[in-house]
Amino acid sequence: MGFCPKAETGHMNPQSTMRAMVLDEARRPLREASVPVPDVGPDQVLVRVHVCGVCRTDLHILDGELSRPKLPLVLGHQIVGTVVARGERVKAPALDERVGIPWLGWTDGDCKYCRSGRENLCDHAKFTGYDLDGGFSEFTVADSRFCFPIPPGYPDLQAAPLLCAGLIGYRSLVMTREADPLGVYGFGAAAHIVTQVARHQGRRVYAFTRPGDATAQRFARDMGADWAGDTTESGPAELEAAIIFAPAGELVPLALRRVGKGGVVVCAGIHMTDIPSFPYEILWGERTVRSVANLTRRDGLEFLALAPEVPVRTEVESFPLAQANEALDRLRRGLVRGAAVLVVDEGVT
Ligand SMILES: [Zn+2]
Ligand SMILES: [Zn+2]
Repeated sequence: MGFCPKAETGHMNPQSTMRAMVLDEARRPLREASVPVPDVGPDQVLVRVHVCGVCRTDLHILDGELSRPKLPLVLGHQIVGTVVARGERVKAPALDERVGIPWLGWTDGDCKYCRSGRENLCDHAKFTGYDLDGGFSEFTVADSRFCFPIPPGYPDLQAAPLLCAGLIGYRSLVMTREADPLGVYGFGAAAHIVTQVARHQGRRVYAFTRPGDATAQRFARDMGADWAGDTTESGPAELEAAIIFAPAGELVPLALRRVGKGGVVVCAGIHMTDIPSFPYEILWGERTVRSVANLTRRDGLEFLALAPEVPVRTEVESFPLAQANEALDRLRRGLVRGAAVLVVDEGVT
């Protein structure tokens, strides 16, 4: 194994290669391959991956809609695993500790955004499963300062979706302040978590899905939504805010028409199709349209402390690592109930 010589290791198999699902170029299926176990840098931990969530961002990278991934690339940024080796400068996490590795993989700590508490906007940020290899593999390395402890009550499978769907959903929810009722557009992994948190805060949640998607609407009601219907419907009352999780630009004017004066429409995804033009009058009245980009470590710590209090329960559809392409395809077709998660290590919870 290619450790830096001063790395500290636990009791792990001295293997030098690992299975991984590799993206060679956009719009080609991931390829199952045997690749070297990565080297551990001085600030990094080597993590044996238990499970890794599949996110819509992975699809956007695969489909070439996010155009600058490192190639070849191992996707995946909702990683739950165990620390099996640590670089010489690592203070935490400990060997054998269970950790979560999110999308924000590294920041310079020095640009104007980092220095003002906005590391999610860092000019030189590196993202897991995009600029850095992610978790669709048996092992991965991560900067120890960007790993999170996983709340103890969560099995690995249920914890994985907290790490992006949960974190980005939470950041989006914070952007809506106390809005009640809250509209959510697109009911997948993030919305099913946000709905539980918003209900816990005593807010009403209205879920808007693709017209006629009775399955998603039933799922939304099961997760606590007060009302679920088509995006073309107006819902039982005017919204104070809306969060759009679906990557469909045409939802922006639709949502704007549903929010009252002073309301905000939060676009939570990293990619969206073009937003059609709309009359100024639906923005008038101090309505706001805004995006949410990435996460800060503070978001992560806040949300992972809140999740067990709610308690957030995640609905998961699991797939073996080798079926990553099938998982991505089901996600693209809107067939996953809740979150898709790859099981990398069959022996985990
Ligand atoms: Zn920075
Ligand atoms: Zn994600």
